[in-house]
Amino acid sequence: MRTRSITSKIPQLRLASGYNIPQVGFGLWKIPPEQTANAVYHAIKAGYRHIDGAYGYKNSVEAGEGIRRAIREGLVSRADLFITSKLWNNYHARRHAIEMAHVETDAWGLDYLDLFLIHFPIAQQYIPLSESRFPSWYLDASRTRVTPRAPVPISETWQVLESLVAPGPEQPSPTTTSSGFLRSLGVSNFNAQLLYDLTSHARVPPSVLQVEHHPYLAQPSLLRAARDLGIQVTAYSTFGPQSFLELDNPRARDVVPLLQAEPVVRAAARLRRTPAQVLLRWCTQRGLVVIPKSVHPDRMAENLDCCSFDLTVEEMDAISSLDRGLRFNDPGMTHGSPLHIF
Ligand code: NAD
Repeated sequence: MRTRSITSKIPQLRLASGYNIPQVGFGLWKIPPEQTANAVYHAIKAGYRHIDGAYGYKNSVEAGEGIRRAIREGLVSRADLFITSKLWNNYHARRHAIEMAHVETDAWGLDYLDLFLIHFPIAQQYIPLSESRFPSWYLDASRTRVTPRAPVPISETWQVLESLVAPGPEQPSPTTTSSGFLRSLGVSNFNAQLLYDLTSHARVPPSVLQVEHHPYLAQPSLLRAARDLGIQVTAYSTFGPQSFLELDNPRARDVVPLLQAEPVVRAAARLRRTPAQVLLRWCTQRGLVVIPKSVHPDRMAENLDCCSFDLTVEEMDAISSLDRGLRFNDPGMTHGSPLHIF
């Protein structure tokens, strides 16, 4: 009963594709495969209906198991869920993008994906899927040989994905096929220039831009560009450094944790909420989708409940003033400097 009531309080936001996305989702990055089925099952039980995965997280098969268990037990039906996955860098070329979209949809055990994102705006040399359960800024596990870039423009990758889109509420039929199995398309880690370029040729418009976003990296002009283009922004790593401490990221080590930042703690005390809920509400109150990750049922529930209270304008502004353009998920640095994207 409680689950149903929290689920119904999560706003549904309309995408360019005509489909709705639940404003709060559950992120899967760095959840070990052996914990993922349980985590996804418990997230659904807690009331999440939107799950954010990726080929690169190496846990899609297990996520699908968690979904099937929830469906088997009658908690949800497939139609209640919004499932996102992402195309990794080594599979941008026409043939490989098609292969990856099929492989990833099959891995989840689903007939369709609600949203498929280009994970990074960078193409790297193909690695046969049979060789690659670690996707790969690098060619080797010891991270000495950077995977070379591949000469594939984003326009090629986008056109391939367009051909896999199923006809839907707002999808023009000449570009989509009745055998399509992707409902909405989007991009991740793109800047405004790339969005302008993409929208100059896209026949299926991008529905979502997923980017790192928290008070230390607020990116107001990128958000403005996306809004002007009708693209919904999803914020990832909304707790800022928190997710990167376990990766021993020096930028994360050397900064005050956002969960302890003064304006966040002050608003949390006034509202009798947790700092994590305040950080999520700072995003959702500005119209962003959030996808926090936790494997602990109490935190899952806490994080999901981030649309049912309001920060004051002064609290919003005080939290925004923490902005310092500090990015944690920068492969040019956090993954040992393979490529310089940002
Ligand atoms: P996050 O901001 O959700 O933070 C996760 C960390 O915060 C974990 O250490 C967790 O234990 C801790 N935490 C979670 N809830 C908490 C709470 N209530 N109180 C205190 N600590 C809490 O970080 P994330 O996993 O990097 O981002 C969320 C999701 O975004 C990912 O799981 C993934 O799905 C997506 N993502 C996408 C990209 C991309 O390139 N598109 C990159 C990173 C993450």
